[in-house]
Amino acid sequence: MTPVGTIPDLIDTIEHIADEHRTDRRCVTTISTGLDTLYVELSERAFDICTRCGQNLPPAGPVAWLDERTGAHQGDYDQQHGCGEWNSPESLLIKIDLDTLADMDEGDVDTTVRDRLTAAASKLDGAVAAATAAETARIRADLANDLRATLSQVADISADTSLTAEEKAEAFADLEDGAGEDPGVYRDGGQWQAWAWVPRRESCESIIVTECDL
Ligand SMILES: [Zn+2]
Repeated sequence: MTPVGTIPDLIDTIEHIADEHRTDRRCVTTISTGLDTLYVELSERAFDICTRCGQNLPPAGPVAWLDERTGAHQGDYDQQHGCGEWNSPESLLIKIDLDTLADMDEGDVDTTVRDRLTAAASKLDGAVAAATAAETARIRADLANDLRATLSQVADISADTSLTAEEKAEAFADLEDGAGEDPGVYRDGGQWQAWAWVPRRESCESIIVTECDL
């Protein structure tokens, strides 16, 4: 049995293992407290577009704000976007008692820490997937509302006997605001549709709602 020994060595080991979970999307934060406790937080955004203004959000940063001496939860880091909306990433905080690990064999420390972080990462994967799905559903519902409103205007214009065919065509064209890269409502082969980007930036896919979906 090879005891790992000192608390700084343990912190070093845990930080190395935690580092393996860091990606372009996933933020890993470690906070050691004066009470021989190390906290590891994993955070990741489920969506990269502000839910209010539609602008891109920065990658996830730390979420929980802990007292560095006691580990007490002081609140959350500011997640407010410039428009005022609070866009918090999904996050998970793991508390590791260093005194317990100090009595273990080096291999056991490695396995224990790896297992806990892998389980936490997998739990966060689930939370992120669920939140992405919820945000996608919200966007889809908004698109359906936009499309319904447009179809109602289309019906009004069609029924307006004071307009010439040319004026009606012009009025229909004015209803299209989803051209090119800009999400919105547009016509595809005479069918009205509404589209938006999926809320995760690495995907260039779009969400499309057609008249048949209403
Ligand atoms: Zn915003």
